[in-house]
Amino acid sequence: MYDFRLDEVTEWIVDKGARTIALQLPEGLKVHGQAIAEEIEYRTSGKCILIGDPCYGACDVDQRFLDYADVLIQFGHAEIPSMEIGSNVLFVEVFMNMDISKLLPQSLPLLKGIVGVLTTVQHVKMLPMIREWLEDHGHQTVIGKGDSRIVFEGQVLGCNISAVEPLKDQVGSFLYIGSGDFHPLSIAVETDLPVVVIDPLMQEVRELSELREKILRQRHGAIARASQANKFAILVSTKIGQNRMELAWKLRCMLEENGRSAYLIALEEFHPDRMLPFEVDAYVSTACPRIAIDDYLRYDKPLLTPVELEIVLGLRDWSNYRLDTIAGN
Ligand code: SF4
Repeated sequence: MYDFRLDEVTEWIVDKGARTIALQLPEGLKVHGQAIAEEIEYRTSGKCILIGDPCYGACDVDQRFLDYADVLIQFGHAEIPSMEIGSNVLFVEVFMNMDISKLLPQSLPLLKGIVGVLTTVQHVKMLPMIREWLEDHGHQTVIGKGDSRIVFEGQVLGCNISAVEPLKDQVGSFLYIGSGDFHPLSIAVETDLPVVVIDPLMQEVRELSELREKILRQRHGAIARASQANKFAILVSTKIGQNRMELAWKLRCMLEENGRSAYLIALEEFHPDRMLPFEVDAYVSTACPRIAIDDYLRYDKPLLTPVELEIVLGLRDWSNYRLDTIAGN
């Protein structure tokens, strides 16, 4: 199912003359780590170290690898071009070519008008086939290229759906190919258009309007709960591709100008227990936008995004709500 592109990886390692190779894989691919390490050691004179800590995206490069390895190879994610990371890190996209022939016909009755087609990096190679199939079945399709955080046409990240921007005024619906709901949820909130998901792993088709309403209700509740808060913790990630320190300082100024107090708290790994020592009424996460949405119920205080803080402070109207995103430079 997965192509780890070990020919290209081997060539890169040999070119670099690397002797010690750190390997970073997301949770879904970690089970393949030992086999990859064995194969790399067999093909090169290098020795591998598997990084056991979680890896959430290309934003999450282990920055300490130079303490113990010559190079780092991260599998499963496309690089984030706007993130300066150095030449001794290689990102290896792991493309999946899955059979969705039973799912495409199920998506047809849910799609409307011109269809904007989007996906994550794993499935970008399937886009030409999907577009051809839809066009053969009566739907014109369009595809967009995102900003400098994005590599491929049609690719979105959970934190960046800029590929939607050039399409949203010309389409009647979006088709998203991928697992999980966060990426397509962002598209649904941003555009208010029908978003249909083809999930190749679950082998199912779903439409997101109900989930969109549920999440919006939940976010409205979080904003209402935070409206009486006086002391805020602004959470800043130390992961290189999630760090938005400038935004964090801006939010602190914004809070102080509106008569509230704020503390910046830097963390590598976010967890409710890490908040226990801090006496505050609400949190604002400037890290991965998924944290506030996916982990909201794990925190005992309202956990907001920067956009939601603006609404709490009366600086933005709820009608202008959107999920948080991280733009390229
Ligand atoms: S910030 Fe979050 S959504 Fe964006 S690449 Fe990192 S893990 Fe993925």
